[in-house]
Amino acid sequence: MDIYSLLDKRFICSFCGREHYIPIKRIITKKGAISLLSSFLLDLVKGRRVLILSDNITYDVAGKRCEENLKGEYEVTSVILKPESGKRVHAEEKYLPQIFKNAKNQDVLIAVGTGSITDMGKYVSNELKIPLISFPTAPSMNGFTSGVAALLMRGLKITIPVKPALGILIDTRIISSAPLELIKSGFADSLAKSFANTDWKISSMISGDFFCPLPLKITTQAEEKYINKAEELLQRNEKVISYLMEGLSAGGFSIILAGKSSPASGGEHLISHFFDIEANKRKREPFSHHGLQVGLGIIISSTIYERLKGLSSREVERRLRNKKIDYDEEIKSFGKDAPLIKKEFSKKVSILKELPKKLPSLWNEIKEKAFPLVHSSQKIRDSLKKTGCPLCFKEIGVDKSLAYKAIMTSRYIRGRLTILDIASELGILREIAEEFS
Ligand SMILES: [Zn+2]
Ligand SMILES: [Zn+2]
Repeated sequence: MDIYSLLDKRFICSFCGREHYIPIKRIITKKGAISLLSSFLLDLVKGRRVLILSDNITYDVAGKRCEENLKGEYEVTSVILKPESGKRVHAEEKYLPQIFKNAKNQDVLIAVGTGSITDMGKYVSNELKIPLISFPTAPSMNGFTSGVAALLMRGLKITIPVKPALGILIDTRIISSAPLELIKSGFADSLAKSFANTDWKISSMISGDFFCPLPLKITTQAEEKYINKAEELLQRNEKVISYLMEGLSAGGFSIILAGKSSPASGGEHLISHFFDIEANKRKREPFSHHGLQVGLGIIISSTIYERLKGLSSREVERRLRNKKIDYDEEIKSFGKDAPLIKKEFSKKVSILKELPKKLPSLWNEIKEKAFPLVHSSQKIRDSLKKTGCPLCFKEIGVDKSLAYKAIMTSRYIRGRLTILDIASELGILREIAEEFS
């Protein structure tokens, strides 16, 4: 299937029977695509007033050239965000007023950058109802094509539904020249999809909520083209990097198809979000890039899945009967954020209460239909190792006690059931937290 054939077309899904619609109008992936920016805009956007959003790094990488390419034909305003603290700009609410101020009365916002710029650009353009064009500078995450924005607000990492970009212009020469850490980050982030989809499938088997297999199908199809090409990725092979970008784009589409981030963000992402919240609390730079933190989360998820495979339904029943978890006590470890965390966690308390009744009888079906969808923990480690991604928490500066806390309590930061919840309720999360810390 050509995943781009799904763009801007309403269709009835042959898997779930629902109508899906990806409102992105056009994606061009090409060497030297930056020179097409003006005609790309002309086709997609009415009006001449353009705001280019970048930061001190991405302005030099591409923002400046975007500006030059549009001058004469468009009225261009540039907002170049500078880090208010630390070395880099991150998606935080403190940068938003400056973007809002300049984006008002514009006809289009072009986000030139990676995760932070794209997420803030999507958020502002959605609020102001102006179209967004995404111009990625690195294949670092799947947000260029997604319908959500992840931002740190009031000290918490939150994911907000937003309108996706109207168009995405990808210059393969630019994204292949990105820092290797960002390429690795995109690779690791893309590996989350089998885990995220399986978390979603299990949750839907328990709750009866909607699930669609199409997201996993399109991301798997894209992944086959790059998952075993670590060497080429590290050599910045443009073809393979464009395949990785296709995988990331498919990841973004999958969020739009599902109408929520479930197919791209499961328990493994909560571990990464936990570290972002913690870094913010400590007023320091994030421990690592999003995808590299997610990679470590995937190692935990894959270990959990492996461990769960060995449990019988009788064992599941016994463990749920004997479970002893004091949610309030664990939530207390979030300190002043505890009330907010508690509120978020309360969204899944009812499904957790149903587990003793539902999980034992569903267990064999879950083992048969859901567990085979994830990559083995060996495959994950091999893939991450070959691409030079971190394999242990120490490598990103997370000490033993923080690693333990991340594994044990990340489940509380989002009100959606993931494999971390199942592992915790079945009493295997603590074993794993002890092993990895
Ligand atoms: Zn569907
Ligand atoms: Zn991600």
